[in-house]
Order: sequence, then structure tokens, then C-alpha cells
Amino acid sequence: MIHLPLVKSRARTAAGAGAGAGAGAGRNGPAGHVCAAVAYSRTIGPPAEECAWCEHRLGGDDEHQAGRIWCARCGVATTSPWPSDGQLADAYEGWYRPEAGRFTGIGDAVLRRTRSVLVNRLHQVSPPGPVLDVGAGDGTLVEAFRRHGREAFGVDPYASGSSPHVRAVEFGEVGGAWSAVVFWHSLEHLRRPVRALRHAAAIVVPGGVLVVAVPNATSLQARLFGDRWFALDLPRHLVHISLQALLPQIEALGFQVERVSHLRGGQVLFGWLHGIVGRLPGHPDLYDAIRRSEARRAVQSPAFRVYALAAAVAVLPLAVAGTVIEVASRSGGTVYVEARRRGLSG
Ligand SMILES: [Zn+2]
Repeated sequence: MIHLPLVKSRARTAAGAGAGAGAGAGRNGPAGHVCAAVAYSRTIGPPAEECAWCEHRLGGDDEHQAGRIWCARCGVATTSPWPSDGQLADAYEGWYRPEAGRFTGIGDAVLRRTRSVLVNRLHQVSPPGPVLDVGAGDGTLVEAFRRHGREAFGVDPYASGSSPHVRAVEFGEVGGAWSAVVFWHSLEHLRRPVRALRHAAAIVVPGGVLVVAVPNATSLQARLFGDRWFALDLPRHLVHISLQALLPQIEALGFQVERVSHLRGGQVLFGWLHGIVGRLPGHPDLYDAIRRSEARRAVQSPAFRVYALAAAVAVLPLAVAGTVIEVASRSGGTVYVEARRRGLSG
């Protein structure tokens, strides 16, 4: 029996600013001298016993960093301490994805635009038939497919109920035959990501498409910003995947990788901006600064928020340079993989 807690998007009604950051993680405000990863590493809980990716039993050969352990066998890191369901529920409380949207005006607009580009692309490369979005949250991507005339559904155990086409079930319970299965920044939120990929291989039709977008834990920005890297996001990200681990796994499950993009996965430039701004005095959290007040992790004074935003503008050229270098060296902060299931006859 496959059990796949999909905990990406526990949408709830908007909570007050800073409510429920949970387990000490995410508190990285102006007064904080301890970054979120270090704070999380100090929470009480059992250390991760096995690699969330390859299920190798973790031991003395594995490298320990704040809040995560790198598997010596597969090169993927697992969040440690391994959070309980209760800790994760706390970490996904209202501030993470409030009903009114996460970001101030332009942020949500950019998000919608990115989804629309993805939909156009997938509509072209997928054979006719329904599309499944795993970890669909509020159903933004599903609804974008439907506006395009494509039958689409989503699954998310923490579905908010705002979309009639997103079911609050575990992915492992979904059967059927899908022309595309999409993991858009959801694989890293799963307790058993490889089992989820295996299940995807079982329900994608021959010739159908698998899409995975994940943070790239061995990217240039991940290495440069370390414990303060934007996409660490402990403890919500349970597994910290590298492209070197992801691609062979996808191929081994019977897919032909057709496209790898170091830019299309989104958030590459933002990862640089967030990382550089976070190195400035006071360690401003740019992600919080662009969110609506009810969606912030910690209370920010207006002056500190202005400081964070002004700093982001000032360092933009540097962040663009970092992005260009990263994409050119194929070490993007996020990676996007498109793969086609083998076995299409005729
Ligand atoms: Zn491993």
C-alpha cells in the first residue's frame, strides 16, 4: 500500500502575520541571528534514519549539514530531524498560502503568467487526453489547462476546496490513464518521492509526458548560499534533489528524457536575489518582503521591508549575472525535466 502524504499546500484561511510558522522554522526576521535551517536543526525530533530518495540507511558516511543529511550513496539530502505529520501541519499553516493570494499585486500576476507559459508548452508536447497535477494546491495550473480546453485534474490531500477539479486524496490512490502527470515543485514535499515517480510511470500512457520541476540542491546558488538558500525551505522540503540523481531515476522508470531546462523551473533569478539580499546586514528575508502581510512568516516593520525591497533593486544586476552564469553552466537553482514514456507503438 503506497502512502504518499502530499503536503505541499495546506491552504487554510488567512492567519495573522507570523502565525504558525511552526517548529521554529521560517523565523528569519530582522532580529534573527539564526537562519531558518539552523533554527530547524535545533527542533526536537528524531534524526532522519534513511535517505528519502534511495532509502539507504543513513550512517557515519553521510554528511550532516544544518537541518539535512546528504546521502553518501545517491547524493540527495534528506531533511533531519525528520518532521512528524504534526510539525508539517504547523509548517503549512495559513501564512503559507492564504486565500487572498500569497504575494502583493505583481507577484501573483507573475505566477499566473508563468503557469500560462507552462500550460501552452505542455499542451503542445502531450498526446490528447487528461492531465494530472500532483500537489495541485488551489488548482491554478489545473484551471489554466481547462481554459486551454484540456481536461485536467489535480490531487492534493490539503486541497482548499476552491477548485472542483482538485481532489483531496493521496496521489498513490489515483489510477487511470493520463497523457501527462505534472510535479510542479511538489516532489520535494513528499515523504517518498521515488515511489511517487514510480506510481506516475504506472499511470502515464505510453507516449505520455512526465514533467518534474524541483529546486536543484547542487546548483551554484544552493552551494553559494548554503544554510540560507531560498529553496531549502525546511521542513516543508523533505528531500533536496540533484539533477544527477533525478535524471537516471526517471530514465530507469521507463521514460526518455526529452528536455532539461535550468531556467524554465522558475525562481532561478529570485533565488539569487533572495540569497544576495539575505547576506546584507540584518539578513532581510526578501520572500517575506514581497508577500502580503497576512502571508509573511515573521512581522516586518515597514522600514525594514522598504530596505529589503530597495536592496533587491540594487543587487538586481548581480542576481541577473548569477542567473546567466548558472543557466549557462547548466547548474540552475531549479530544474525542469520533461520526459516521455517509452513503449508507444505505431
Ligand atoms: Zn540516498
